[in-house]
Amino acid sequence: MWQNIEAAPADSILGLTEAFRNDPNPAKVNLGVGIYKDEQGATPILQCVKNAEARLIETEESKVYLPISGAPAYTENVQKLLFGEESEVISSKRAITAHAPGGTGALRMGAGLLKTFFPEAKVWVSTPTWANHTGIFSSTGFEIAHYPYYDETHRSVDFQAMLMSLRAVPEGDIVLLHACCHNPTGVDLTLEQWHQVVAIAQERNWIPFLDFAYQGFGVGTSEDRCAIELCAEAGIDFFVASSFSKNFGMYNERTGAITVVAANQASAAVALSHLKKTIRVVYSNPPAHGGLVAATILSDPELYDLWQQELQDMRERIIAMRVALVEGLSSRGVDQDFSFITEQSGMFSFSGLSDEIVAWLRKEKSIYVVGGGRINLAGLTASNIDYVCDAIAEALKS
Ligand code: PMP
Repeated sequence: MWQNIEAAPADSILGLTEAFRNDPNPAKVNLGVGIYKDEQGATPILQCVKNAEARLIETEESKVYLPISGAPAYTENVQKLLFGEESEVISSKRAITAHAPGGTGALRMGAGLLKTFFPEAKVWVSTPTWANHTGIFSSTGFEIAHYPYYDETHRSVDFQAMLMSLRAVPEGDIVLLHACCHNPTGVDLTLEQWHQVVAIAQERNWIPFLDFAYQGFGVGTSEDRCAIELCAEAGIDFFVASSFSKNFGMYNERTGAITVVAANQASAAVALSHLKKTIRVVYSNPPAHGGLVAATILSDPELYDLWQQELQDMRERIIAMRVALVEGLSSRGVDQDFSFITEQSGMFSFSGLSDEIVAWLRKEKSIYVVGGGRINLAGLTASNIDYVCDAIAEALKS
């Protein structure tokens, strides 16, 4: 059956982890996949998660199916975190949320729902974007279009080009936006720029689809949701795909959510009915554990504070590594100015390293970087930073 079928290429990011695992070099460093690492290079379970899990083991009484959209305690708390507790979107009940398996599942279910009713719409993604975005939306049957985002020369957002492109997006098309911590560039819009983007969405009547996989990795959980708040204030229809993979470190619990914000409660109920249909035929109902852990933490003031502290520690360690990398390169006499790395936010940096250098780092030094030069800063630690800086300095000088 399979003899005449060619194997699919390995996933560009997860395939790198595979290669890293098989590399026998003890000095190897993985700056590829987007997973947080602590100072020891480990990805331990957050203490708030451990505490919530201990509580759940005591109290959980059954493993019966969850509702199609997940446990209400989960979806209600997701909305509070996304919009802020006092948000009009919550009090007017014009948002509906379903627990989805990770941010990926959330994107896919949102895409499926949209495809049912807007089959002719195009989905616009930033250039560049997370590699899986195009896969998720094109496998749902959407045609993908691109809007300019990253300005390689200035290492910032090419905002004028982005605006021009967004102004020309036809009514009813879908525009995928990274709500914060843009992956792969690490370059975000300012609040003022978000105002302009939301005003265009409102004027041109296209649908913002916000991918929110890194809430709390930029400035903080409430600061990072400014794009969501602006869309909510504008009163427009929009979608949010959120994830607790990174900010709760619950990568393998597949804990995300798809949220649809509609004009009013009645429209939101219609959206939920169709979202449930979309979910029912794909995974029927979500896995429970991660959602129950998240709901436990988000609804308990003590666990919530512990989570905020642990999230802050992760965020600040990444920022410290940005500084260490820039200083490490400059103290090694590297001519290029890498200071832009400290201005970017989130886990990633578009380092500006060429594909040739990326290949050299992997071959000669066992340092794994995604093609295009995206570095996961969380892969840097006090014990490997000198090795990485030496290697990059050597590569740039030779
Ligand atoms: N969106 C972006 C921009 C991401 O970087 C990721 C994770 N790498 C996701 C969505 C999906 O997250 P999850 O692992 O929760 O599916």
